[in-house]
Amino acid sequence: MSVKDNYKNVQASVKKACERSNRDSDNVHIIAVTKYVSVDTAKEAVEAGIEHIGENRLDEALSKWEEIGSGVTWHFIGNLQTKKVKKMIHAFDYIHSLDRLSLAKEIDKRTNPGEYKKCFVQVNVTGEESKSGLSPEEVLSFIEELKNYPSIEVAGLMTMAPYTDDHTLLRSAFRKLRELKEGIEEKKLSHAPCHELSMGMSNDFEIAVEEGATFVRIGSSLVGKEK
Ligand SMILES: *Cc1c(COP(=O)(O)O)cnc(C)c1O
Repeated sequence: MSVKDNYKNVQASVKKACERSNRDSDNVHIIAVTKYVSVDTAKEAVEAGIEHIGENRLDEALSKWEEIGSGVTWHFIGNLQTKKVKKMIHAFDYIHSLDRLSLAKEIDKRTNPGEYKKCFVQVNVTGEESKSGLSPEEVLSFIEELKNYPSIEVAGLMTMAPYTDDHTLLRSAFRKLRELKEGIEEKKLSHAPCHELSMGMSNDFEIAVEEGATFVRIGSSLVGKEK
């Protein structure tokens, strides 16, 4: 199937998940994760109407960015080394993997004065050892500390759920992230509006949407897998 057909299917599934959970599908943004595909396929996605591109491999992301440009919104979704921030910050509108103060400090330093960088704080909801991110208990105090880095705006929270078909487990992970987000939202911190939830991938995005995802990150079922 073409990327265009996949996109239609994903949009339809998002819409149905929104109907099941009484949500407005305008509030769910589909990020096409292009890490497994060439720049030509990424361009095909843009031509199909995709407005958000997600990447986790920096060098490749930057060469795609050079070709596709800033007509779409760029999301950095992978682990980010502090020393690489300088090289990438101009290209990405959102960083989904903020998980330590040293990284916050560098993002703040490299953002133009008076501008903001929208960041998601990454949370390891289920405590899997292979995953990065803060534990749920650490999130609030971490976000409070971020007020010392005035260029950072906490757009929301991000998680990668365990790789499993266990829907109950997936749902409880997504729900936990949503509850955590709501707790932070209620604090009304000026640097941390925290309205967004980045959660859901190819195998679990429908559940994530039912539980409140506002950004889903979809690779293989949207643009395929070439490598
Ligand atoms: C690869 C990746 C995705 C997309 O994965 P698919 O299962 O192919 O949809 C989403 N989020 C992150 C952080 C990723 O690294």
